[in-house]
Amino acid sequence: MIISGKELSAKMKAAMAEEVATFPAKYGRVPHLAVILVGDNPASVSYVTGKAKASAEVGIHNSTIRREATITEEELLALIAELNADEGVDGILVQLPLPKHISEEKVIAAIDVRKDVDGFHPSNVAALWQKQPCTLPCTPKGIIRMLQTAGVEIAGKEAVVIGRSNIVGLPVSKLLLDQNATVTIAHSRTKNLAEVTRRAEILVVAIGRPKFVTADMVSEGAVVIDVGVNRDPETGKLCGDVDFAAIEPKASVITPVPGGVGPMTITCLMENTIECFKAKFE
Ligand code: NAP
Repeated sequence: MIISGKELSAKMKAAMAEEVATFPAKYGRVPHLAVILVGDNPASVSYVTGKAKASAEVGIHNSTIRREATITEEELLALIAELNADEGVDGILVQLPLPKHISEEKVIAAIDVRKDVDGFHPSNVAALWQKQPCTLPCTPKGIIRMLQTAGVEIAGKEAVVIGRSNIVGLPVSKLLLDQNATVTIAHSRTKNLAEVTRRAEILVVAIGRPKFVTADMVSEGAVVIDVGVNRDPETGKLCGDVDFAAIEPKASVITPVPGGVGPMTITCLMENTIECFKAKFE
């Protein structure tokens, strides 16, 4: 079974659009997501464009604020302070990565936690690890949603996550643990990686290396979630961290790239924006 993140996203966005359409009557306006793009990194430009498109589909007001790569940290922090103070802004997203002269940690921490739609603010991260209510990071949230929608039982399963980034590997591991999986986190220093990954009943791969996970690393019947977004060095096309063609016949459930985790990440961002908006009126 191939889980189409694209199809699930379309369904979720249609449901959100219906809900958002009721907001002007209920709350006097629609949610407003402010996206800050620093510089013109092509991947970042494409992500920001995707977020604006999804916002339009759902009926969320999106303003993309572009700044030159030469912006100082102080100027960026001042812009965030302005958006924090703006009652009409419900979500603030700073597209990463930022230029090297700007501290991403400082910038993320400067966002009002109530507007942190990415779920990267230290208070949201702490709340996640303490099982407190919080805004969940979009990619891990989307992964769990895909597993649940596909009817994958998580409780009691051996889950292996390759990658330990703050954005994907660590939070998805915590969410799997919260769903009662037995979780192993593998990384670049893991010994005998294939032995570890073959134990996985659920394998989540977030490395950033094209087709790194080969068929011999996956057990028959495993559920495979591919987070990677890479260019295939041979074809130049988009591909994941998993050798999809070789693993698809072996896996019970697998996500494609493109059209898998990627669209779900953006859709969960829409969901987070709506949640932050509604929380203001509660
Ligand atoms: P990252 O911060 O670069 O982290 C990569 C992780 O992979 C690190 O923990 C690293 O281990 C591990 N790793 C690297 N080489 C490895 C190897 N040979 N064996 C085992 N582990 C290895 O990356 P990220 O931000 O988590 O992103 C990972 C991928 O997901 C990228 O392709 C990114 O574009 C994609 N992504 C997609 C979405 C989406 O919505 N689809 C969202 C976010 C990210 P160490 O910690 O030991 O260095």
